[in-house]
Amino acid sequence: MNRLILHLGAIFILIQTGLGFTQSTDSTADSLKTYLNERFYDPVDVDVQKLVQQKRVKNIILFIGDGMGVTHVFSGLTANKGKLNLLNLKTIGFSKTQPATRYVTDSAAGGTALSTGVKTYNGAIAVDVDSLPVKTILELAEKEGLATGLVATSSITHATPASFIAHQKSRSLDFEIAKDFMNTDIDVFIGGGQRFFDKREDGFNLIHDLENKGYQVLSDLDAAFDVETGPLAVFTAEESNLRASKRNGMLPKATELAIKILSQNEKGFFLMVEGSQIDWGAHGSNTGYVIEDMLDLDLCIGKALEFAVKEGETLIILTADHETGGMAVEDGSMQTGYVKADYTTGGHTGVMVPVFAAGPKAELFMGIYENTAIFYKIKKALGIN
Ligand code: MG
Ligand code: ZN
Repeated sequence: MNRLILHLGAIFILIQTGLGFTQSTDSTADSLKTYLNERFYDPVDVDVQKLVQQKRVKNIILFIGDGMGVTHVFSGLTANKGKLNLLNLKTIGFSKTQPATRYVTDSAAGGTALSTGVKTYNGAIAVDVDSLPVKTILELAEKEGLATGLVATSSITHATPASFIAHQKSRSLDFEIAKDFMNTDIDVFIGGGQRFFDKREDGFNLIHDLENKGYQVLSDLDAAFDVETGPLAVFTAEESNLRASKRNGMLPKATELAIKILSQNEKGFFLMVEGSQIDWGAHGSNTGYVIEDMLDLDLCIGKALEFAVKEGETLIILTADHETGGMAVEDGSMQTGYVKADYTTGGHTGVMVPVFAAGPKAELFMGIYENTAIFYKIKKALGIN
């Protein structure tokens, strides 16, 4: 098995093959080297005390790191030399991720637990064990008059974002999931997956439908910053976006843009932002991939913190749907950012995952609880019955 060894201080990357070390000439490794060199960052400078003083929750920003266990967080923390934005989310809990019918969850059942408060079977998109639709927190928030948004680096129809907006018996029904977007009035969504909207076997062009519903539909995220009001859909890829080192800050930019538009709603907003590919890196036992997508998600948390401190009344939550890879950190250096990690499985594990929160009502997220409790905690924080 090949292991990716990262040394982010002196910045050199070696591929360990068997017993020997060889300098990598792999272009992926070179781009990672460049990426990390450019992207080493200081966390945003915010007075976190200001978040704690707030009482009312007007806005919720829920970050989901797909596959993000404690080890993935710690790898990112080590790689960025002991500094992360998420250290500002000082209220900590743990979420137990077991689905209804098994011990180890997939992202569909994991997402559905977070979005609906219901434990279901693996593959289910916001439907219960009988495949019956269950209202999601995004739908409930919309009904309360909140603006709503979804941001992901995967296809926007992929299991995690889909669990917040669609109701399908299987995660593989991307075309059906895309159609479910038409049943809501979601204000902003940004991610991949354009082909599920405009290259459909049923002949429908959902992008035309979105435009008829009043959406501005764009594929250039930088140009989308000129958009002042929603509803807005931005498709940044035909299907998935590339990994963090190759997508030009797509996720932090999308987070900033979504917050800009959603925050115009006087009643507040609910936004879910997914770091979709922490999971993909871990499935591939690719520590560089895990770390760059972990840090990319952390940059998004920086955007949320800046907004929350400025505007107030914003609850920020960061959690995961499950752990991926049975990842272990075997060696590292907080001084240089060196991380050496290994994996016990190419799949998911059943271990509980961390929950970090900051802002009004953050204390709701202390303790150890089922993943479904997160749905109820968000509802309670928003005062939805
Ligand atoms: Mg996902
Ligand atoms: Zn996975």
